[in-house]
Amino acid sequence: MAIEASTPEGRLVPCPDCGVPSERVHSRYGQRLADAPCGGRGVVIELSVRRLFCDNAGCRRVTFAEQVEGLTCRYGRRTPVLQRMLAGLGVVLAARAVARLALLLGVVVSRMTVLRLVMALPDPAWEAPRVLGIDEFATRKGRRYGTIMVDCETHQPLDLLSDRDADSVAAWLREHPGIEIICRDRATVFADGARKGAPNAQHCADKWHVWHNLGEAVERLVSRHRALLRDLVEPQSPELEPEPEPPDPSPVATGAATGDGASPEPYPQGKFLDRLRDTHAAVRAQVEQGLSLREIARRLGLGRNTVRKYARAASPEAMLHGQWQNRTSKLDPYRPYIEQRIAEGCTNPVQAPR
Ligand SMILES: [Zn+2]
Repeated sequence: MAIEASTPEGRLVPCPDCGVPSERVHSRYGQRLADAPCGGRGVVIELSVRRLFCDNAGCRRVTFAEQVEGLTCRYGRRTPVLQRMLAGLGVVLAARAVARLALLLGVVVSRMTVLRLVMALPDPAWEAPRVLGIDEFATRKGRRYGTIMVDCETHQPLDLLSDRDADSVAAWLREHPGIEIICRDRATVFADGARKGAPNAQHCADKWHVWHNLGEAVERLVSRHRALLRDLVEPQSPELEPEPEPPDPSPVATGAATGDGASPEPYPQGKFLDRLRDTHAAVRAQVEQGLSLREIARRLGLGRNTVRKYARAASPEAMLHGQWQNRTSKLDPYRPYIEQRIAEGCTNPVQAPR
């Protein structure tokens, strides 16, 4: 649905630069403005506006286009009513859904335009919170980090800082006095920044980091004392109990020949071991690319000594030696016989027993 309209002649319009009013017409041109839909149909206003001369000799502007208050804005292709409607929907539905819904209502708009309209909305007003949460966020994970400030009582994000820097955090806190409690992780940048910017505030670790650190500590502790745990568990699980019978060479060889006992699961599965294998593979791959240990440490976010340990280990299992030295095996009762056969030069388990 198109509505034609034109601005009246003889109306004085101030120059946008110098403010001196003018009515001397240079030309007229047509503008198409999308308006809010009406009766289920899209509305377009075909508006004829004047281009006027600025007659002020001291002004650098020669001509300017007149604007109609409440209807046009410079370079705008939508009326303010439609812009407000799309921005409001964008906040509720997100951009892609708004673009689809608008099409049903007869308004053509891209999701990027909706995003721009939402981004142009003024930030909601807020006051310095009593409990402030500070954490980092990534715009490019592992490369570029910023800082987010959250009101921990209302869960409302308050502000974003473009970097992760103690001075920026301190400056922000000085601009927003009155914060009593700062909830943060244990990163030194936030600790230093918070101490400098809000020296009287009380600091505490946030819930996520408390759980995360506890989880890591428990995992480290359990992996360090695996052997003890195995001793506790083994008597209860019959398949792990060592053979009570004294070793008899022939069944071993048969077992080896059929593959029953010769290829036990070499190392168990588990999150810790999976991560160890992944990290080992990543470090070795980068060593083979010729990267320095320092560079690998930086890229993977690991300590240089840790990277050196991974780089030196030929296989991930080699790193478990200390941990698995005392591991019992189904083959243990037959170990003397196996070692004797190996000493005799037989290293093929499929070979017939002597
Ligand atoms: Zn002017």
